Amino acid sequence: MPLANMFTPLDLGHSQLDNRVIMGSMHTGLEEADSTGERLAAFYKARAKGGVALIITGGISPNLEGVLGPPGPQGSFARFENDVSLPLHQKVTKAVHAHGAKILLQILHSGRYSLCPDLVAPSPLQAPISPHVPRQMSETDIERTIEDFAACAERAQRAGYDGVEIMGSEGYLINQFIAPRTNQRTDDWGGIYENRIRFPLEIIRRTRARVGKDFILIYRLSMMDLVEKGSSWPEVVQLAKAAERAGADILNTGIGWHESRIPTIAQAVPRGGWSWVTKKLKQHISIPLVAANRFNMPDRIEKTLAQGEADLVSMARPFLADPGFVNKARNGQSAEINTCIACNQACLDHVFCGKVASCLVNPRAGFETVYKIVKPDNLKTIAVVGAGPAGMSFAAEAAELGHQVTLFEAETRLGGQLNLARNIPGKNEFDETLRYFAQRLKSAGVRLRLGQKATPDLLDNGFESVVLATGTVPNLPDIEGISHPMVSSYADVLAGSKTPGKRVAIIGAGGIGFDVAEFLLQRATPKQAELPAFQKKWGVDGKWGTDTAADHGGLAQHPCPPLPDRQIYLLQRSEKRFGSGLGKTTGWIHKAEMTLGGVKMLGGVFYEKIDDFGLHITCKGTKQLIEVDNVVICAGQRPENSLKACLLDLNPDRDIHLIGGAEEAGELDAKRAILEGLQLAQSIGREAV
Ligand code: NAP
Ligand code: SF4
Repeated sequence: MPLANMFTPLDLGHSQLDNRVIMGSMHTGLEEADSTGERLAAFYKARAKGGVALIITGGISPNLEGVLGPPGPQGSFARFENDVSLPLHQKVTKAVHAHGAKILLQILHSGRYSLCPDLVAPSPLQAPISPHVPRQMSETDIERTIEDFAACAERAQRAGYDGVEIMGSEGYLINQFIAPRTNQRTDDWGGIYENRIRFPLEIIRRTRARVGKDFILIYRLSMMDLVEKGSSWPEVVQLAKAAERAGADILNTGIGWHESRIPTIAQAVPRGGWSWVTKKLKQHISIPLVAANRFNMPDRIEKTLAQGEADLVSMARPFLADPGFVNKARNGQSAEINTCIACNQACLDHVFCGKVASCLVNPRAGFETVYKIVKPDNLKTIAVVGAGPAGMSFAAEAAELGHQVTLFEAETRLGGQLNLARNIPGKNEFDETLRYFAQRLKSAGVRLRLGQKATPDLLDNGFESVVLATGTVPNLPDIEGISHPMVSSYADVLAGSKTPGKRVAIIGAGGIGFDVAEFLLQRATPKQAELPAFQKKWGVDGKWGTDTAADHGGLAQHPCPPLPDRQIYLLQRSEKRFGSGLGKTTGWIHKAEMTLGGVKMLGGVFYEKIDDFGLHITCKGTKQLIEVDNVVICAGQRPENSLKACLLDLNPDRDIHLIGGAEEAGELDAKRAILEGLQLAQSIGREAV
């Protein structure tokens, strides 16, 4: 049977899991924003209905000091330090159980990562990612906090949860006790390793004692801290064995602290790129072990299970992208999975900005009660022009709601700008988005007219509404010599129709400027197998888990990223910080890529002219010649919606809608395009008469 390992049930003695896939913990922002529990219940219900065996909630603090951000009002889902929010939790557990899945509460104390001023930690050391210095916990604080964990678990039991996960990784409080980086105590809770792991082990023991033996207890263990003065490999093994003895049923994998400067879940990480670490631990323990991070398709999950790297696989973001992931895999419909592309743009980036998490490829995620699947009264015949992300999203949703939809695309393939984006390093996951939409459009019965340019006459032919998703055209700045043969647009470079030389200047340092720089760097760097290349570039110790591992929390002793054979200049007119418009959780990765690739970044630039010698600029009052072979223009875009005027000329009463870049080019990305497609499809045919 295909995916046989994935669909082998797991017997924990006191509980059975239907399959080997867990929805891992992920904060959605609904924990604070949803005062009735309706949205959270709908969110988790959709995932339970989609076949996942076990869901773990977002991290909930056992007390007020442990909250990550503003705690929300008394009685909110995020505050479970007493029984006031019990009814909200019960709503969620009921919704999940109604569909046969199990659900665990994750108990997370953020320690020095809290953004609130009353934060605590083992030692008063400020985290590089927090604005506040924590107060050192007294022995009384420690005892009280252990008690708070156990009490929270008991409360979870009364709320109907099937168990709890104790968050011991990612650099949160428990991890802060374990590592010498953050624990400089001289009492019985610091110093030698046996003392530093007393805190997690006491929490596990006391929680187990409080909830009894028939309640699932997962301990999430940091297997590789990826920071200086993190745990050594023998220490990781020692803690894993001790956690098992203390009463954990399952060990989950954590990789990297949040302050680590190595990507752990972003697109830069190869799929399943950390399961080799989990595999090293497996031989040392007898309870089930979970692999995590950068799984997003069933074949990679199956491979990990089949190769004995883990007993279960946990994913969080892929369940935002597709709540039906597991059932689709079970039914042989993996090609219909809406795959998480690991962009973080609508999930983690939202949460870090205090917004509710959603998903770039599935904007319904987190908004299940807003974007309902209800047919409109007035079904229409609709023409959509442009099969980029906005057009595809609209066409699929509108057809599923019952409209008769024809999608025109001048190119012979679907995708629009996604066909350029998929060539950028780390963005090849867009291939999955293209595969998904192709399947979905077909299943929804959209009439596809590929290679057919939509003319006003064609659109005049029996369509009640026209949706223009015709995208954008690149800006061409007014610089002397802009027509010189050495000048190309980003579109030509990313499409491969122009190949720049060894010295390249990029005009414009927005998202696309960075993308083009990464594209050019990758093509000028010697090729290597994916995982070793990732480890070498970012300084991960590939010998971790062996006797020869360096004692540095998984950091390589002498990282030596290969240097590209190309000099790139990235330029902008403004003086603002480079990369300030990039994603909150991934911008640092793109900036690090520039540093690793030796890219020279110049701000405050005035472009004088381009000629045979290169690009002439004035930078901070000084005239300079940048001697380059090519100049690539990444200076933003403008809307392409010229069809609108032609259609209105023929019939001023035409029902015309603009979405995506055709409506507004500034700040356009696939997230906004796909969302606007969904929103328009939800509203069309429901207009008040
Ligand atoms: P953008 O982010 O608006 O950047 C345009 C760049 O061109 C700016 O650096 C601007 O900087 C420069 N520019 C604008 N007009 C110019 C002119 N007349 N002459 C010279 N330079 C000019 O647009 P984009 O890079 O095209 O990206 C489009 C959208 O996609 C954005 O919303 C972006 O966030 C998104 N995107 C995001 C990512 C990502 O997060 N990884 C990747 C790709 C795209 P100065 O005005 O300072 O010169
Ligand atoms: Fe995955 Fe991006 Fe969606 Fe987040 S926004 S779930 S990373 S596809």
